[in-house]
Amino acid sequence: MYKHLFGPVPSRRLGMSLGIDLVPKKVCSLNCVYCEVGKTTKMTLQQDEYVSEKEIKEELFDYFEKNPDPDTFTFSGSGEPTLNNKIGSILAFLKEHKPQINVAVLTNGTLLSLPTLREAIVDADIVLPSLDAVSKLAFKKINRPPRAIDLDVYINGIIDFRKLQLERELLDGRKRIMDLEIFILPGYNDSKEELDLFKEVILKINPTTVQLNTLDRPGAVKHLISASRSKLEGIVKYWGLKYVSIISAAPNRKKIQSYRGDIESAIVEMISRRPCTLEDLSASLGHHISEINKYLDVLESELLITRIEEDRGTFYQLNNKGIDEKA
Ligand code: SF4
Repeated sequence: MYKHLFGPVPSRRLGMSLGIDLVPKKVCSLNCVYCEVGKTTKMTLQQDEYVSEKEIKEELFDYFEKNPDPDTFTFSGSGEPTLNNKIGSILAFLKEHKPQINVAVLTNGTLLSLPTLREAIVDADIVLPSLDAVSKLAFKKINRPPRAIDLDVYINGIIDFRKLQLERELLDGRKRIMDLEIFILPGYNDSKEELDLFKEVILKINPTTVQLNTLDRPGAVKHLISASRSKLEGIVKYWGLKYVSIISAAPNRKKIQSYRGDIESAIVEMISRRPCTLEDLSASLGHHISEINKYLDVLESELLITRIEEDRGTFYQLNNKGIDEKA
């Protein structure tokens, strides 16, 4: 079991993705209401070596020796990966040893206003910044940022990074993708005014694609509702931009190559004894929370499990109705 690597996790967008976690839970520059990892415990904009570069490289060497190649190496996990100031050198290490494998960075994009960070990750094959708000009010309500983040500076950082990607593409001919992820939360960022502002900003960023997402796991705040499929389709139509798609959909286990029945059985076995939180499952089964989350997605979409909200967080329990129907 590795401390900083997890998976490969079946990902709808990245194939078999080996997660590389560059920060401990939960170091982040934002504290989004919908965060699946839970509340931010260390909110910071300070880059640091939160997880040792040496340890990560040792784990990667071990992984290379003992496992088949994944489709993608993905910087993601327990917080904001670009807060680790060694991200550039770990990316260079991956490109040196496994040049044929794509490297992806899942980021909230807040630190892209730093020229040093833009330079550090410009050689990633796919960067997926999120941007959930283009007005100050929605930004405050959804992402609950520290005061030091200025929304315009944040957005300009994403714009500047996309420009840098395209400049480098021209120089070396290697394609660099930016998939901009927008998380739609009804009542927070789906008014006509917000959508109009979003369109303006998207055109300025000029990403490869825009991917609309919505809640399919419990967030840090209770009572959030997810956007319906027809709501998301309405937004795609309203914007009328060719490169916008919807990524939120109930996952289908048959389409997930690396879906492991033993992990699913272990989860079901545990929660059949008593309701468990995501953290309980992760700690007991020895799998990263992002990996457990993928299985909970499937089990929940198939109505095999259900969630209950308690003071200590969100608990999962067997949904007897769903199981009876499946029997
Ligand atoms: S969703 Fe991402 S950016 Fe937002 S709090 Fe969670 S880890 Fe941080």
